[in-house]
Amino acid sequence: MANAPILVELLPILDDNYAFMLRQEGNSRVVIVDPGEAAPIAEALAERSLQIGSILITHSHADHVAGVEELALATQVEVIGNGADCHRLPKLTRTVEPGQRFELLGTPVEVLDTPGHVRGHVSYHLPEAKLLFCGDVMFTMGCGRLGEDGPEVLWKSLQLLAGLPDDTKVYSGHEYTLGNAKFAAHVFPDNQEIKARLAKVQELRAAGQPTVPTTIGEEKRTNPFLLGGSEARFAELREAKNNFRG
Ligand code: ZN
Ligand code: FE
Repeated sequence: MANAPILVELLPILDDNYAFMLRQEGNSRVVIVDPGEAAPIAEALAERSLQIGSILITHSHADHVAGVEELALATQVEVIGNGADCHRLPKLTRTVEPGQRFELLGTPVEVLDTPGHVRGHVSYHLPEAKLLFCGDVMFTMGCGRLGEDGPEVLWKSLQLLAGLPDDTKVYSGHEYTLGNAKFAAHVFPDNQEIKARLAKVQELRAAGQPTVPTTIGEEKRTNPFLLGGSEARFAELREAKNNFRG
């Protein structure tokens, strides 16, 4: 069972958030990432006769943690998050720190230090399963808003994620892609790959389909916040996105 492939299911919650369920064939205990709301997740679990083994938290914002307490009431749910941020996270039963490696579902998980959207934000990279859960740091064709720190902090976090293997699947916390893709096409009007991707995104969204996950490789080619190529350009683009009305 430890070596069974990990299946990731998107659980749309709130207005535009995604929580994620990681499961393995034959294992009824699943991992939930960023449950910002309890009811839809409890329902999805009940429908499939599954229970939560562990909850992974990327960061302290309510839309990523508001469902933790209720979901963790069930017995023996492990709640995992950045120990340095425990004063403002739901009660953690297992603290982790950036740079640490641990195991979940029989596969290694690396804790990546990804502040910038908010202090204490971590991302979870499963190198063997080639999965990344990066909360509000990198989005499909976008990135999170700046928090308490300057743009250089988020830029550095994005660079860290961009350094992961190209075929890593990127599971980010929001469905913001349509606006992101319009902005990308606006700031990089000559980029044909962005143009094509915008059309694809429009198609998916019109059909009610998600645009998550993406891959690190795709993001390196079409995410405007990575294409800028420098911290200074990143800062300009982040500011321009705040004021963009596509
Ligand atoms: Zn957030
Ligand atoms: Fe969020």
